[in-house]
Amino acid sequence: MTNQNVVVADTSSGINLAITVHVTNSSIFTTAKQKPPAAPGGYITISRNKLLKNLEISGGARFNAWVNSMRTSSPTHVNSTPSVNDDQSSWILHHPSALEMFGQIIDASKGKQIVMFLDYDGTLSPIVDDPDRAFMSKQMRATVRKLARFFPTAIVSGRCRDKVYNFVRLAELYYAGSHGMDIKGPAKGSKYKKGSEGVVFQAGSEFLPMIDEVYKELVERTKTTPGAKVENNKFCLSVHYRCVDEKKWSGLAQVVKSVLKEYPKLRLTQGRKVLEIRPTIKWDKGKALEFLLESLGFANCTDVFPVYIGDDRTDEDAFKVLRERGQGFGILVSKFPKDTSASYSLQEPTQVMDFLQRLVQWKRRAFQEQSRV
Ligand SMILES: [Mg+2]
Repeated sequence: MTNQNVVVADTSSGINLAITVHVTNSSIFTTAKQKPPAAPGGYITISRNKLLKNLEISGGARFNAWVNSMRTSSPTHVNSTPSVNDDQSSWILHHPSALEMFGQIIDASKGKQIVMFLDYDGTLSPIVDDPDRAFMSKQMRATVRKLARFFPTAIVSGRCRDKVYNFVRLAELYYAGSHGMDIKGPAKGSKYKKGSEGVVFQAGSEFLPMIDEVYKELVERTKTTPGAKVENNKFCLSVHYRCVDEKKWSGLAQVVKSVLKEYPKLRLTQGRKVLEIRPTIKWDKGKALEFLLESLGFANCTDVFPVYIGDDRTDEDAFKVLRERGQGFGILVSKFPKDTSASYSLQEPTQVMDFLQRLVQWKRRAFQEQSRV
């Protein structure tokens, strides 16, 4: 018997429920596309109606499942760890350390242009209690600066683009903020892109007034929940609950849900200790990755090798795109086993830095060898 995370698409509310169920054989579920799970530990997508029929989940239980999902998305939670140790070694077998596999990764990229995509929170910076103080270290900034000298590099974050830029402060990078809905190329143009015009893309601008309105309402309604913090990411909103007493999570989720009832054009998703509200447009970090590859002139190229590093559920959209394209790979940053479409893993931002440094060293050596020939 295994645990499977089941993502339930609730088209009426736009909420994705993630429920952990025990299954002896995943084929008892009919998947949305009549396909088996994409990969070991991959998501199974099944229709909400089918799930409700199969599992006879009532409305109340559905809400509890959603709160449980808040717990499982916060893997440091004590109740989420008992099975973790048992599963750790088999998970590592399927998602080996990108540091240990470095040689194989380099071999796979031979003759191809590596393009780097980096999430920010939990990937370049540690997860901290105050999201406004999620600073990256000077060493990490220096590493990313060197990385961008050798490879096109983009930061892809759920945060507002300006905010993530203020954390990273490297003008030579591409930035995709608000889960990729707000994209901008390097301020001084890019050496990788033909022509001098900058890359600018904004999806869902028409939602901005609505998002602002919901932001104000959420700030007001969450005032009574100590530790809750609402962040306006311009194209989307975040309700951080990393500082909220777990006993209050359910109440907070209820408040957020009740505010969103009035806004069917917005949907609720979950990140790491954060509830996220965004427009119901089909745009995510995976779409941002495809847009950026296209902007860089790699749309239909076979000689591109995109590497995406992220720690969050929202990064899974990008991991899936890479699997579907059969190009490059995703690296999940996690100390705990998680369902993921990423190929490799790194445990924490310091390991991400080690990996990026090794990439830089490898490329620098390759250049030096080339210049000697
Ligand atoms: Mg993250």
